This record gives sequence, C-alpha cells and structure tokens, in this order.
Amino acid sequence: MNEASPLGGLNRTFETGRTRPIEWRRAQLRGLQSMVAEQEESILKALAEDLGKPAQEGFAELAIVGGEVAHSLKHLRSRMKPRRVRTPMVGQPGRSWIQPEPVGTVLIIGAWNFPFQLLMAPLVTALSAGNCALLKPSELAPATAALIAELVPGYLDVEAVAVVQGGVEETTGLLRERFDHIVFTGSSHVGRIVMRAAAEHLTPVTLELGGKSPAVVDAGADLVSAARRIVWGKCLNAGQTCIAPDYVLVDTAHRDALVDEIGKVLGQWYGDDPDKVGDYARIINDRHYERLVSHLSEGRVAIGGGVDAGRRFIEPTVLVDVAPDSPVMTEEIFGPILPVITTESLGESLDFVARRDKPLAAYLFSRNTGSHNRFVERISAGSICINDTLMFMTVPDLPFGGIGPSGMGQYKGRAGFDRLSHLKAVMKRGRWPEVSIRFPPYNRIKMRLLRMLG
Ligand code: NAD
Repeated sequence: MNEASPLGGLNRTFETGRTRPIEWRRAQLRGLQSMVAEQEESILKALAEDLGKPAQEGFAELAIVGGEVAHSLKHLRSRMKPRRVRTPMVGQPGRSWIQPEPVGTVLIIGAWNFPFQLLMAPLVTALSAGNCALLKPSELAPATAALIAELVPGYLDVEAVAVVQGGVEETTGLLRERFDHIVFTGSSHVGRIVMRAAAEHLTPVTLELGGKSPAVVDAGADLVSAARRIVWGKCLNAGQTCIAPDYVLVDTAHRDALVDEIGKVLGQWYGDDPDKVGDYARIINDRHYERLVSHLSEGRVAIGGGVDAGRRFIEPTVLVDVAPDSPVMTEEIFGPILPVITTESLGESLDFVARRDKPLAAYLFSRNTGSHNRFVERISAGSICINDTLMFMTVPDLPFGGIGPSGMGQYKGRAGFDRLSHLKAVMKRGRWPEVSIRFPPYNRIKMRLLRMLG
C-alpha cells in the first residue's frame, strides 16, 4: 500500500463497523448538508476562480448536491431495510431476504467541469450506503479541489472520509491500491485506464463518461421553446457539461427557422459579448480552447464564431453544413459549439443517433406523443428528456449514468444506493419438518416428487 495513502486508515475505520448504523450515516449526510449551506459563498468563489462560473450556475451545483442529501435522508431507512423475497415451496419452511450491506471504501475520482457536484453527489450515495470514501478532485479545478480538502474534515468523520489532491501521478498511485468500488467521472480514455487498474483487484467500477448527446427537433416542434432550452443546455458552463446537447438534428425545412430562433435567444441573453455580461463561463484551459477553435472551420458559421485566446473565450457558435464524419461530429465537443445537421424525417434522425455510440443523454423536441414514444423505444441512452435538456438531473429518483461508451453503473437515487451496497442474499430455514426427498439414496419416487415440486 502507498505509504502516503489514507486507504489503510479508512479500511480500519470500516472494519470497526462504525459506518454501518443509520445514525452515523445520517450524521454524515447532515454534515454535508451543513457544508453546502454554510460554505455556499466560498464554494461559489472557488467555482468562479476555476471556471469563471456565474454564481447562479454554481448555485445549481450546490442545489443538486443539497437535493440529493435531502432525498437520501428521507429514504435512508427504507433503503437500508432487508427486502423480503418469496421462498418457493421447495425451500419451505423458510424465509429469504436481500440485505443491503456497505461494500467498504469507495474511491471517487472527479472531473473538473462540475468539480464540487461530481465528487459530492457520489459521496452522498457512498455515505448513505454506509461506506468510507476517498475523494480525488480534479487538478484542473485547483481552487475547488483545495477548498474541498479544507472543508471535508470540518464537516465529516475524518477517519471515514479523506481527500487526496493531485493529477495523473497521484491518481495512478491510488489506482494501484485495492478499493472496494471505484466511481470515476471523466473521459472514456481515462475510464479505460481506471477499469484496467481496477481489474487487477477485481474491484467493481462505476464509470461516468461522456459522449455526444443529440437533440432531435421533430417537424412541427415549438421552435421558440426548443431553441431556448437547447441554447440553455449548451451554454451552461460554456458547453462543458457531460449531458449538454452536443449537436442538433432537424428536418431540412425547419433548419433556418430554428437557427434564427437560436440567434434571437443568444442575442436576448448575452448581447454582443457573453463574456462581458458575466453569465457565461470560460473554457477551462488552453488545450481545450485550441481543440474547440479547431472545430470552428469544420462547417459554416451561422451564428457566433468569435474567439479570444487571452480570455479563453469562445462565443456560442452554431455550425451548419457540417460533414457527419468531421471531427466536430465524431468527437465529444464539450464546449459552446453547436452543429445543426439536417435530415429528411424523424426516422432518419433516429437512425442517425442509433447508428452511433450510445449517448449519456438524448433529447427530443416534439409536440407529438407518437414521436415521444418512438424516441423512447428506439433510442438507447443513459437518460432521455423530452422537450427539454438537462432538467432530468433535478429528479432525485431517476438514476444517472451512461450506457456503453458513455459509462456503466448509476449513482443517484435507489439505484445508486444499491450500486454502492452489496445486496447480500440471505435464506433462513426452519429446522423441521425435515423432508428427505433431496437426500440420497435417490430413487424414482423422490425423482417424481422433485419433478412435481420443481
Ligand atoms: P479526465 O478523464 O481527463 O480526468 C478525470 C479524472 O481522471 C481527473 O481527476 C484526473 O486527475 C484523472 N486522470 C487524468 N488522467 C489520468 C491518468 N492518465 N491516469 C489516472 N487518472 C487520470 O476528464 P476531464 O477532462 O476531467 O473531464 C471531461 C470528461 O468527463 C468529458 O468526457 C465529460 O463528458 C466527462 N464527464 C462525465 C460526466 C458524467 O457524469 N458522466 C460528468 C462530467 C464530465
């Protein structure tokens, strides 16, 4: 074990059994609740320092964590309860149940784009399930990482929750150790590294990855509402959101009208310079800025296109006439660039999405219930939201996670609780009457009885 790592201490705490009772779990969740309430100002300041995140967007991060805590507190007792299952005739007299138990110490590795929420929301789940946790914030959001390391000991059980700051080297060191579960949020490239390392110890992983989340606009959709909600989903955090609508599919006849509406919304919200308005985050670093700027020449700029390297500013930009095999349409964009692609029908849009990697989120804008049903049936994605973007994140009972290249496993709600628990199967048998048909010596009569029971 790495000498500097707190894992040994966390494991020892877990072995004492102290994290199992509901009282301990409640105390930790209340500690998190107090941290969010009392430290709002300092957290918003750190988010602004790291990402230029406007206070309202930072507050949304805190609100999601706060909502998650409140929901977990409300359902904690029922989630922890043994879950009775039916025992068949052959097992009578007997009782059977599923007993959720904590798994041990969970390593939670975060990404930089929602640097507070992406560590704290899985932490809520890990603590609810009675686990210890080691948090590894993203080094690309250093102010938030340092603040989390400073705040956690003041609000949570220091022997059960630890923070290790650092980048590739420190994370590589942690990944050599044997955790009981790893929750990783980040790119699919690093997700593979994490999964390979976890395989050494047969440690289960939950991978929250990215991808290209499509927004399909059906013929006859309310274009004003669709434009507003797509732009909001795209411009929040300057597009650096894993579930941001990555690109739009719209039928040829409505493309120009949709692009016009998008232009109007952007004008109303940001005027000529979103950066000056202060409601628009900045691109995290030069590498991502250069990557995004290179996409601007992969189509015709219909709206925006302004850039400023000094401020790492990229104007919200709509690209049209984009080739489906260009990098902007094959790589996750993760920035404020929105390709608008045309199709001839909803069926063609569905085929377009279904032929590509399964996304983290998929959006449909349509007035037609038949189209809603078709979309939900046909499209496989981590989450689907009809007639809006991102808002499904506000529903605490909806599990959150990807499928295929967009991730595996979920960490919200009851699904999350179960993910970070072991669902132990228990059967308790009555000692009598002792029915001997299962015991040797075997014979035809026992066989016949077995067939009848089985
Ligand atoms: P990243 O994969 O570069 O980094 C994530 C974490 O991994 C960081 O903590 C980093 O320190 C660590 N890391 C980086 N390189 C590593 C290596 N070689 N070995 C071990 N650890 C390493 O991701 P990012 O740039 O921080 O985040 C952007 C990506 O995250 C996007 O693809 C986005 O879609 C995805 N994301 C997904 C979700 C989700 O919930 N599904 C949420 C936010 C972001």
